[in-house]
Amino acid sequence: MTDSTTNHTHLAVAGLVAQPGERVSGLVEVDLGAAVVSIPVVLINGGRAGRRVGITAGIHGAEYVSIAALRRVVMELDPADVDGSIVAVLTANPAAFAARSIYLNPLDRKNLNRVFPGYAAGTASERLAAWLYENVIAPSNLFIDMHCGDMNEALVSFSGIELIGEPEVDALSRRVAEAYGLDYLVVGPLPGSTTTAAATRGIPAVLAEVGGQGLWPAADVARHAAGLRRALVAAGSLPPSAATGPAGVVSRLLSQEAWLRSDVTGYWHPLVGVGDEVAAGQPVGEVRDAFGTVLGAVDAPIGGVILFLVTSLAMNAGDPLLAIGTS
Ligand SMILES: [Zn+2]
Repeated sequence: MTDSTTNHTHLAVAGLVAQPGERVSGLVEVDLGAAVVSIPVVLINGGRAGRRVGITAGIHGAEYVSIAALRRVVMELDPADVDGSIVAVLTANPAAFAARSIYLNPLDRKNLNRVFPGYAAGTASERLAAWLYENVIAPSNLFIDMHCGDMNEALVSFSGIELIGEPEVDALSRRVAEAYGLDYLVVGPLPGSTTTAAATRGIPAVLAEVGGQGLWPAADVARHAAGLRRALVAAGSLPPSAATGPAGVVSRLLSQEAWLRSDVTGYWHPLVGVGDEVAAGQPVGEVRDAFGTVLGAVDAPIGGVILFLVTSLAMNAGDPLLAIGTS
């Protein structure tokens, strides 16, 4: 695999090299076995000591708000403002982006965010995860993964962290997540995800989610971008003057999350909207057949807030329906 080193003079990742004070961008070719993909990477070398921050967007290829917001922030930043360095992967799953694929990498039909830290001799997604882990996540002192609802999902904005029992790591994860300023902060692991892989290695890590449904309206992109800027200020990577854009909010803390999946294939009729508060046992939707007959009623297993909701009428057995977060 390629080298990933940083010091006070230069920053090198996968053949790209940024000298002090430089921003360097380029496409990095990565062999995934089934195909060679070109991954857009931006290095910003502030030239001063400081954290190396790894940032990814587009782990899921149709999550456009995160892709648009990360590109905007890293291409706008003045490298002279950066303490330490930033390694940004603008579209982490190019084959999924090109295919407008929901959840899955078309090269192997796997969800990239379930196979971290990856396997360099595995399938396409496992190889891609291994490359991202080795070049972006593992060498970082802080890792941020930007998502939104997928093409078929609406969501309320939220951040996510995992606490690992190391006070300094946990404090930084929490400070950065709170600075992002989204509606909710969910605490808990997601096995196979980027952020859990980082946390397992002792690296502070934050998931951030704004927007969805295959759209990238200016207000959502501005909110994701402003959140990232505040997060980088909170991390000490940027000066307070870099925290531009719409203001954040105080995140409501959620300690538990229930993901509901469909037992059957059919037509999904939700009875709730994102951000709604539901009680345990409350009906939240139905899956019907082609003629409208109810095949299965779905009740909330816990009370809480609807964090994300699938908005497509088409539903497949085993696919997510919605998630409920609770404090
Ligand atoms: Zn995602």
